[in-house]
Amino acid sequence: MNQNEKRMLLTSVSRPGRYAGGEYGQIIKDKTQVKARFAFAFPDSYEIGMSNLGVRILYHCLNLHDDIWCERTYAPWVDMQEKMREQNVPLTCLESGDPVADFDFLGFTLQYEMCYTTVLNMLELAQIPLRSADRGEDCPLVIGGGPCSYNPEPVADFFDLFNIGEGEEMLPEIVRLYIKMKDEGTYTRAAFLHEAARTIQGVYVPSLYTVTYNEDGTVKAYTPVYDDIPVTVTKRIVQDLDKTPFPDKVVMPYIETVHDRIMLEVYRGCIRGCRFCQAGMIYRPVREKSVDVLNAQAKALFDATGYEEISLSSLSISDYTELEPLCDRLLSWTATMKRRRPVPSSTSTSSGKATSSSKSRTTACRKRRRSAPSSSVSPGRRASRWCARTTRTTCDRKTPAPRRSSSASRRTIPSRKRRAWTCAPRSST
Ligand code: SF4
Repeated sequence: MNQNEKRMLLTSVSRPGRYAGGEYGQIIKDKTQVKARFAFAFPDSYEIGMSNLGVRILYHCLNLHDDIWCERTYAPWVDMQEKMREQNVPLTCLESGDPVADFDFLGFTLQYEMCYTTVLNMLELAQIPLRSADRGEDCPLVIGGGPCSYNPEPVADFFDLFNIGEGEEMLPEIVRLYIKMKDEGTYTRAAFLHEAARTIQGVYVPSLYTVTYNEDGTVKAYTPVYDDIPVTVTKRIVQDLDKTPFPDKVVMPYIETVHDRIMLEVYRGCIRGCRFCQAGMIYRPVREKSVDVLNAQAKALFDATGYEEISLSSLSISDYTELEPLCDRLLSWTATMKRRRPVPSSTSTSSGKATSSSKSRTTACRKRRRSAPSSSVSPGRRASRWCARTTRTTCDRKTPAPRRSSSASRRTIPSRKRRAWTCAPRSST
């Protein structure tokens, strides 16, 4: 598709910024110089996908390698899908505009089961066979990861392999194995999948296991096809979050997205272990980042993006053992800049004692918002004021901080209207 055709297509759909690419901070490489191209797909709209911290982290991890180029693609909205089918336009990646089918890998992050049908829809739009058994040597290897990959069987037929666990180390290892086998001339699709299952912890290749079922339809047993691949796939975790790559700059969307702010992942896992909570189980064990590292990452992101807000992101942020020192460090430089620090969720103090329930906090928040002079204070500032008064993590300023002017607050790209109070997404990778 040439530029004129692309322009015509974009002007005929809603929110063309979802598909235009060219955002500040996107990573562009010379495709003739890289050895593997990875299309990172988020099976939901651009606004949701751009808000996902896991995608930001893995995009950064893969692009740290000079010979790997990771690009992004999102599920087109309904109007765009219709146009693509009408005009036989395949799904493309934002950075290069190249069809996803031309890539070496297509990786889906599976954040919730509701996205499964969108995965199939994206495969169809990309003109890639839905079932892994129907894909030839020239098709991308389709990888699944994220929380839903812990129970991959419902969608096992559609993926070539799954990442079970955290992807910061595992995903680059998979791509590096692909590059190595290509360089050695030993690559075939089947040989690569076997080698990945054999040598990389956390890789599950459904086609290499025979699954038997009980009469009630539950899984009875997984039997490996080869003796040298594990009977039980062990989930992969990163041991030291301080040493794990974390993006020091991010792609800045030109349209409003759900979480449009600095997201600082404070720790992974949760000390609570509520039996109903999937995230509390699969992100075990608890691993914290140090205050020094978090402060440095926050400063780097602030300098690189010009965002006005920092969101402390984790499953239960007030369980972070260094929460007060962290807030003091952040306040030491953000207070003078009049930055807000939304705290997403809170169940207890750092000492482990339960504080007021979220319900009573919500009620208190509503009362304060009602009592605030609504004509003069924006919802975002009222939320910020509530945040400052009801948590131990923010400053004791009695009035909301004035916003900086547009030119001062965003250093490199235009300022925009922002939402100030929403929960941060879970930091799944
Ligand atoms: S994240 Fe929340 S619900 Fe899940 S285990 Fe932790 S405290 Fe419980």
